[in-house]
Amino acid sequence: MSNISEMYSSMVFNDQVMREKLPKDVYKSLHKTIEAGRDLDITVANVVASAMKDWAIEKGATHYTHWFQPMTGITAEKHDSFISPVGDGTVIMEFSGKELIKGEPDASSFPSGGLRATFEARGYTAWDPTSYAFVKDGSLYIPTVFCSYGGEALDKKTPLLRSVETISEQALRILRLFGNRTARHVVTTVGPEQEYFLIDKGLYEKRPDLRYCGRTLFGTKPPKGQEMDDHYFGAIKPRVAAFMKELDEELWKLGVLAKTKHNKAAPAQHELAPVFSTTNIATDHNQLTMEAMKTIAARHGLVCLLHEKPFAGVNGSGKHNNWSLSTDTGENLLAPGKNPQDNVQFLLFLSAVIKAVDEYQDLLRVSVATAGNDHRLGANEAPPAIVSMFLGDELEAILDSIEKGQEYGAHEKIKMETGVHVLPTFNKDTTDRNRTSPFAFTGNKFEFRMPGSSASVSGANIAINTAVAEELKQFADELERAEDREQFDVILNDIIRRTVKNHKRIIFNGDGYSEAWEKEAEKRGLSNFKTTVDALPSYISEKNIKLFTEHRVFTAAEVHSRYEIRLEIYCKTLNIEALTMIEMAKRDILPAVTGYSKKLADTIIAKRGVLDSLDCTAELSILQKLSKATGEMYVIISELEGAATDAKAISGIYDRAKYYRDTVIPLMEKLRTVVDSVEPDVEAGDWPYPSYGELLYRV
Ligand code: ADP
Ligand code: MG
Repeated sequence: MSNISEMYSSMVFNDQVMREKLPKDVYKSLHKTIEAGRDLDITVANVVASAMKDWAIEKGATHYTHWFQPMTGITAEKHDSFISPVGDGTVIMEFSGKELIKGEPDASSFPSGGLRATFEARGYTAWDPTSYAFVKDGSLYIPTVFCSYGGEALDKKTPLLRSVETISEQALRILRLFGNRTARHVVTTVGPEQEYFLIDKGLYEKRPDLRYCGRTLFGTKPPKGQEMDDHYFGAIKPRVAAFMKELDEELWKLGVLAKTKHNKAAPAQHELAPVFSTTNIATDHNQLTMEAMKTIAARHGLVCLLHEKPFAGVNGSGKHNNWSLSTDTGENLLAPGKNPQDNVQFLLFLSAVIKAVDEYQDLLRVSVATAGNDHRLGANEAPPAIVSMFLGDELEAILDSIEKGQEYGAHEKIKMETGVHVLPTFNKDTTDRNRTSPFAFTGNKFEFRMPGSSASVSGANIAINTAVAEELKQFADELERAEDREQFDVILNDIIRRTVKNHKRIIFNGDGYSEAWEKEAEKRGLSNFKTTVDALPSYISEKNIKLFTEHRVFTAAEVHSRYEIRLEIYCKTLNIEALTMIEMAKRDILPAVTGYSKKLADTIIAKRGVLDSLDCTAELSILQKLSKATGEMYVIISELEGAATDAKAISGIYDRAKYYRDTVIPLMEKLRTVVDSVEPDVEAGDWPYPSYGELLYRV
């Protein structure tokens, strides 16, 4: 299949296919249920299922699976074949409406954070018809949500869909006030730029840290890092190019709009950006993208690292979450309009985002907090752990003039009859793309740059959608009280002015990576949660639980369960890392260092045997350094072993996480420092692992 437009979406049971394969009335009725968000009628489901099955078999499928996104952060699937015995010893291929709309996977092996008591281990999956089914690797994949029998969400998808609903409802209230009668709903759009590393599979296999943890736990910087800036947008190497070509094709077949691909700042680092779509689809597609990256890399003798910080001292990987709001009729609500009146509507939506990011900065930080991302946030070339917003000079000047009650712009002084200031048109391209801002306005969307490369984008978008929905709700409540147009304008202006005044502390257009900003942010009272453990308690604060429950995105129990699970994952991650370090240090590194020390000692003895006065300064000083380091390593290893054991014995999950942060991590860092300090002294052939230089430059 060389024709790309033919290839595109060829494995997706999309709208076009449905229109083709379904009887007209069934197609219509399916569409209606999708739009209204209602449950699918079983007779309709039966017809859809049968058509889907025939289509899937044509595409080579023999099995089907409900595809869901449990709280592990990756996707889950369980494949059943279409085969059904008929009684005379033969089989037919069957797929019923019931099987399409509902599945019952055993939920007990997925994290539930206490939501699902063990006596009711069953969970169920339900078809989400707003995300199309597709065929991959011989199976029909049906995107589903995953819940407990009590109806609690056990996945990352259900709350995301709920957040999409609440923001749509509130945004529509605002649009109606501005006279929009045509929009039926508002969607949030997302385009997640995915960063990743590609390294040689053979080298990867030699490093237990990469195999078990996805990142290197030891390793010194190579002589050449990213300082020459010669990798960014650089020519793509043939092996990588072949990988990217196959990746694009695979993704296109699945309807993923893979669009841009290029090298990033770090050697071996690359990026893939899709064309944006609705949040729901973007989330599914990003999961498919990450999966495809891993499997396709393997076919090219490569390994794709999605960890946030695979190499210390080298740029980490993120997932820039480009986010906007638009009507179902295609109007982008975060695009400055062509005339002053449109711009007031734009400014109101902008105000909602500003207020949301300020009031829920803690929640945004929580939404991206993982052990892996802790290495990245605040590190070299990454957004700091402080949430702030970049708007660009012109927008900031406009907001400033609104706050002060002045008119903006010398030549465009337009006043409305009511004496209310209206806004001039302005150029959206003046946003000069501050690369250091964690939440940057980029002309017609916001780019949230804090999410980590390995995470599902659902978490970040649940937080953004719900927080913005809340602000829109408050604005709508106020505006709906206006008795006439005049009063409406007064309230409107007051809301915008008040928001700027009360929340401008979150706006920062300067260098977000500077130390000065950290101090300034503290003065402004912005939160700065450096680690996951610092950030997570905000998840269950009264304010945030109120937000989630009022918007019916999470129940209080669901929030608590996620808090628990996140802490658990944090602890497990660190436990694995600590144990991996211990194993590597004891079994490979210590023996390598002592082995090389013996070589040095033998050399010294041999040299002295030849001639007592032969110069052994180099051998002696290296030997001395290695011996000292060996002793230190030995002590730290036993301390780390003790700490890893102690950690597991701590019963409270938060206390355990704290112990990892305060005791285990510092010991891991200490061990790494000693090991890294001797890596350059040991003969290359004696070092047990491929070096950073090999890993980063050998593709
Ligand atoms: P960058 O300059 O940050 O690398 P890219 O052009 O690589 O930007 O990526 C921009 C991303 O933003 C793309 O995935 C694009 O589809 C997405 N995007 C563009 N418009 C919107 C929008 N209205 N809503 C959400 N995402 C959008
Ligand atoms: Mg970007």
